[in-house]
Amino acid sequence: MVTRDVSNLLETIADRVWLKDTNGIYLTCNTAFAEHLGATPAQIMGTADAQWVGAALAQEFLKADRTVIATGQALIIEGPMPSPAHQDAAIFEVIKTPMRGADGHITGVLSMGRNIQARKDTEARLRDATEQLELALLGADLGRWDHDLSIEKGYYLDERSCAMLGRDALESTHGRAWGHLIHPDDLPGTLEAMRAHLSGAVPAYEAEYRARHTSGHWVWMGNRGKVVQFNQNGQPLRMVGTLMDISKRKQVEGELLATQSELQSTLRAIEHLAFHDTLTGLPNRRMLSDRLETALAASHRNSTYGALLFLDLDKFKDLNDTYGHDVGDLMLQEVAQRLLQCIRAVDTVARLGGDEFVVLIQNLTVDHGDAKLHAATVGQKILASLNGLYQLKGVEHNITPSIGATLFLGRAMVAAELLKQADMAMYEAKAQGRNTLCFFQERGL
Ligand code: GH3
Ligand code: MG
Repeated sequence: MVTRDVSNLLETIADRVWLKDTNGIYLTCNTAFAEHLGATPAQIMGTADAQWVGAALAQEFLKADRTVIATGQALIIEGPMPSPAHQDAAIFEVIKTPMRGADGHITGVLSMGRNIQARKDTEARLRDATEQLELALLGADLGRWDHDLSIEKGYYLDERSCAMLGRDALESTHGRAWGHLIHPDDLPGTLEAMRAHLSGAVPAYEAEYRARHTSGHWVWMGNRGKVVQFNQNGQPLRMVGTLMDISKRKQVEGELLATQSELQSTLRAIEHLAFHDTLTGLPNRRMLSDRLETALAASHRNSTYGALLFLDLDKFKDLNDTYGHDVGDLMLQEVAQRLLQCIRAVDTVARLGGDEFVVLIQNLTVDHGDAKLHAATVGQKILASLNGLYQLKGVEHNITPSIGATLFLGRAMVAAELLKQADMAMYEAKAQGRNTLCFFQERGL
């Protein structure tokens, strides 16, 4: 006998509930179940399944009920629950439990049916999404990691990540701290990137580092991740991310850098060649022109005099003829060094070619007389310096220069004209017997 209280209780259950005796006769059911069969509880009580669902299905239900009775164990069945009233293929989870009388004998089977189609759909969608994610990771050659921050060894690497480092996939399930896998030089930057993300300063963790392969070598890895779970205090609990083997990219980058620096040094060499004299390393005529232009502009701005000294070695051919071109070269190099000793860093010594040199003196005074005195002092210093004895590969030799000088102020004279003036003054020095300094103005040319 089923009391009214029990019937009321069954009505409160949203799932379909029904109770049959050991012969398959319905003792009770709730309205949800009755509606499923297209009837009322009163119509169902006292009937058997064959009346509602057809012989084949009724036989199936009977078989399940008998299993429960025979084993005395609960049975869970998943599948559609077709009935004349409900022909859709929604999946139900039916739990069948043996009902026992006071003496412990099984008196019937209580069943409870729950429509789990929505759960099945969600599971299927989740499976699809997981498969798609897996495909995307596979396509991009990405490994996956999962870091449980609440435990010390909560670092999980998936199979692909493990393969990148030559590790067994099985190892990945153990989880491990990851710091020791990273190259010591890369560890501080990696930890800093992690700290920055965990503190919320940056939206994602991103790091590139070398990781230890089981065979001993280092593998360049690109790592990206994000906190996906926080506790109630906002503390990060779990991070997930991807790993990528970026060795090839790093190799190409390295080669590119090497090529770039090679190219840069080649360019620097070419540039140096274009602006310098190869024998002495001094600026050449081209660079002197640039410097002279700049000096004229500065002189114009500051209203200060500058000077140009044109040098030509005296009887240099004799040295070449007597001791050979090589010794002549050594002389030119030594002369270049001595000239550099005579000037300030802001001034310029250039070799025009042959035994001709030019000294550009900048930023003298605003007064013409003082400027000329200063230029003359530099000229005398050069004369004295170049006059000293030279030791050239065992050859002792003396040389002297003839120096022509000219002063400039602002842009009154163009660069080429100034050089011509200094050159002319130099010829005057030659005419005066060499080893002397002549100013262009002195001759009033
Ligand atoms: P002067 O006193 O009139 O100047 O007579 P000089 O013998 O010095 O004759 P000049 O200045 O006209 O000739 C310079 C010589 O420098 C001509 C050339 O043989 C030599 N020469 C030019 N370039 C080089 C070089 O790179 N190395 C060497 N060793 N000699 C050079
Ligand atoms: Mg000469």
